Amino acid sequence: MEPDTDQNRTAQHRIPRKRVHGIAITRDVPDLVVLDGSRAHGLGEIRKGRESAHPRLLSLDAHGHILDWISWQDAACLYVRDAVAWTLGDPCLTIHGGYNRHNGAQSVLDLHPIIAARGHARGPGLMPSPALTNAALFARDAYLCLYCGDEFHRQQLTRDHVLPVSRGGRDVWENVVSACFHCNSRKGGRTPQQAGMPLLAVPYRPSWVEHLILSNRHILADQMAFLKSHLPRRNPRAA
Ligand SMILES: [Zn+2]
Repeated sequence: MEPDTDQNRTAQHRIPRKRVHGIAITRDVPDLVVLDGSRAHGLGEIRKGRESAHPRLLSLDAHGHILDWISWQDAACLYVRDAVAWTLGDPCLTIHGGYNRHNGAQSVLDLHPIIAARGHARGPGLMPSPALTNAALFARDAYLCLYCGDEFHRQQLTRDHVLPVSRGGRDVWENVVSACFHCNSRKGGRTPQQAGMPLLAVPYRPSWVEHLILSNRHILADQMAFLKSHLPRRNPRAA
């Protein structure tokens, strides 16, 4: 935990000009400082450009359709632009902004864990498919090698193609599993049947909601409850 010094307390972070889920951020939010709710994580990490230790906010469209995780900076932009339609949950982060030149009052923003934004809507059947990355794949498989069943660090895992690419296997969620180096090299260019290495679980394509749960290690209770209520009614790991 960072010491509570004046230097930390006055750390300032300019919001980049960018687009948030189709909503154009057209002006900068100057001189925002995170003071409350994040102290336990240490402001020093923000000052180094690290946001991962701070809770990310779950963004929805105004109809309640789930969009994506957003940083507290992007969330602050939505509040300042009056683009927040409604919110769920008690405030989880308080951000202090600049001082009013006339009355000396400091602006304060209370950010909520779940934020529905105006100006962008997604149809209920149009959830995106998660991109297949090694990080997402290893998270899907709970950092287990699906051949030997042992747990590994991310650096010790590989992406194994169940039906090898050399045999026409595709690089898709349904044909890839996490495998340790040893099992991957032992299996080589063979199928699990040919290698006598049965899979411990059937590979599957995570839904967008599953992907959101797997891709954030700091999910708040309100967010987790909301996401779980939107999980598809299936249990692909039960096989
Ligand atoms: Zn293994």
